[in-house]
Amino acid sequence: MAIEVTSAVLEAMLGQARAAHPREACGLLFGSETAIDGQRLAVNVHPAPHTHFEIDPRALIDAHLQMRSGGPRLMGHYHSHPHGPPEPSATDRALAANDGMIWAIVGQGCVTLWRAGEDGLQPLPYRLAPA
Ligand SMILES: [Zn+2]
Repeated sequence: MAIEVTSAVLEAMLGQARAAHPREACGLLFGSETAIDGQRLAVNVHPAPHTHFEIDPRALIDAHLQMRSGGPRLMGHYHSHPHGPPEPSATDRALAANDGMIWAIVGQGCVTLWRAGEDGLQPLPYRLAPA
């Protein structure tokens, strides 16, 4: 089943990926099972940010605390591939947990969505949410 993503979220991720280049940008995705309508840029705290990402743990804690007090629901995260296609790298596949999280990957001017499940990262089709 496809999920909807707002153009604001897509444009924000693409812009942040360009701004972070040649480092990887990363951040959090918010919404519901049917639509991603929020994102928040996070600091990439990985020691090798040109080739890896690690979302600032503080951003994750904040998102969980806000969710508990009625804030937007955390659905997943995104990161960019400055030098590669928007497909999971071997590292991404190794990192993915069987937790149902949505992964968005930005690369070559495109955004792809993936779902982390028991079979690893599987493509998650999406369409633009109606404005
Ligand atoms: Zn990656």
